[in-house]
Amino acid sequence: MNKNKKNIRVLILDDDKFMLEFVSHLFRELGVGEVLVAEDGKAGLYVLSAQIDPIDLLLCDVEMPGMDGIEFLRNIADQKYTGKIVLFSGVDADLLKAIERLAIVRGLDVIGILSKPVTIESLTVVLKKLFLPVSRIVYPSTQLKHVFDAEEVKRALVADQIKIFFQPKISASSRRVTSVECLARLHHPKYGDVSPDNFISIVEQNGLINDFTRTVLKKSVQQLDVWLQQGLDLKISVNVSMENLDRFNLPEIYQEAVQNSNVPIDRVILEITEGKLGKDFAQSLDILTRIRLKGFGLSIDDFGTGYASMETLKYMPFTELKIDRIFAHNATKDSATRVILESSIKLGKAFGLNVVVEGIETAADCELVARLGCDEIQGYFIGKPMPAIEFAEWLFEYEKKNNRYICSDARDEKRNDVSSLERY
Ligand code: C2E
Ligand code: MG
Ligand code: MG
Repeated sequence: MNKNKKNIRVLILDDDKFMLEFVSHLFRELGVGEVLVAEDGKAGLYVLSAQIDPIDLLLCDVEMPGMDGIEFLRNIADQKYTGKIVLFSGVDADLLKAIERLAIVRGLDVIGILSKPVTIESLTVVLKKLFLPVSRIVYPSTQLKHVFDAEEVKRALVADQIKIFFQPKISASSRRVTSVECLARLHHPKYGDVSPDNFISIVEQNGLINDFTRTVLKKSVQQLDVWLQQGLDLKISVNVSMENLDRFNLPEIYQEAVQNSNVPIDRVILEITEGKLGKDFAQSLDILTRIRLKGFGLSIDDFGTGYASMETLKYMPFTELKIDRIFAHNATKDSATRVILESSIKLGKAFGLNVVVEGIETAADCELVARLGCDEIQGYFIGKPMPAIEFAEWLFEYEKKNNRYICSDARDEKRNDVSSLERY
């Protein structure tokens, strides 16, 4: 059904009768069709259960005698409530944010927080949000809901259907493109270029990760070889799964993948996700240290989301720290996020690491992380992951926009010999 204000149904939960009347009045002033009220969580559950038509918006006070807001939200999450929710209360902002997080983790759609006193302006903003489509940047390849099985992934590996997309990283100070992260895609005949979230765990769980990583590394190195020959001064980062670290000869396997090219080994950085570090500390340390000895760079990926202890940082021979995108996003608006971002950058710098912030989506995020002293920036704001052939075009335009001209053959090469690039 097409929603307009007149057919919106709102339920307000608050133990303060005056507040119930006041907010109901404001909603009616704004033209909302139906406003229901309840004085605590239990009453709210009762009202919800008595509805035939769904409630579109729930305004939920947090502090209520009897069943409070947290208990109420837990109950409606169990009942799979699918409408939008706005939290409102006089409790302090940190507490409200924790409650918002809790609701989101439970799968509820919280579209905002309102501090009391509620005004007609703040309710207008809430109603606007109700009509907004999803505001996140979503690329089609990440929306896929198909679940791959091991056989499909095996077939893709054998049929050479693993493609590499390249996402640029720029220097925070010079804004020049310094390197690219190589991100795997499974090129499926029906679904197109499928993102790793849809198949990496299958690869890992079915003993395919070593073949997979070697394939990705080889293809990425081959591409870098082409770019270096064209005069592009780039490095590459390749993701390594912690499941890879199950064999002591891994450094030799990776070295071999690079040695069959003209690429200097120190132009290759291996990224390891923090969340899985330390399963077997001695074995990880052995393998990672020997990877460094061979000359690879070593990056701790998604920093801040896992369990890397200070001990991990102290002893694992990392050269780079990559701060997860959840800390880049919102840091301009949210003080707690900003504190974490700022201290992670300082921590990385204090350890002498190259600090990268990923997931930069806006100019404001970009300016902030540069000001906070990170070394490199990656994110949709700079450039999205793209096939090699598009990357050459993108780089040319990027440099032109910044009044620099790359004197390389990269772009001409693209025109003259498309097939040689398309192979990757
Ligand atoms: P990652 O290594 O942290 O890579 C960054 C992911 O964030 C990429 O997703 C990239 O497309 C996405 N991203 C980049 N900029 C932005 C941004 O501004 N906003 C948002 N919202 N997202 C951004 P992708 O390509 O889907 O890869 C997801 C993860 O899959 C990677 O996270 C990495 O952990 C894993 N992965 C990718 N390729 C490989 C691979 O060859 N081997 C292994 N083991 N894992 C891989
Ligand atoms: Mg990565
Ligand atoms: Mg990451």
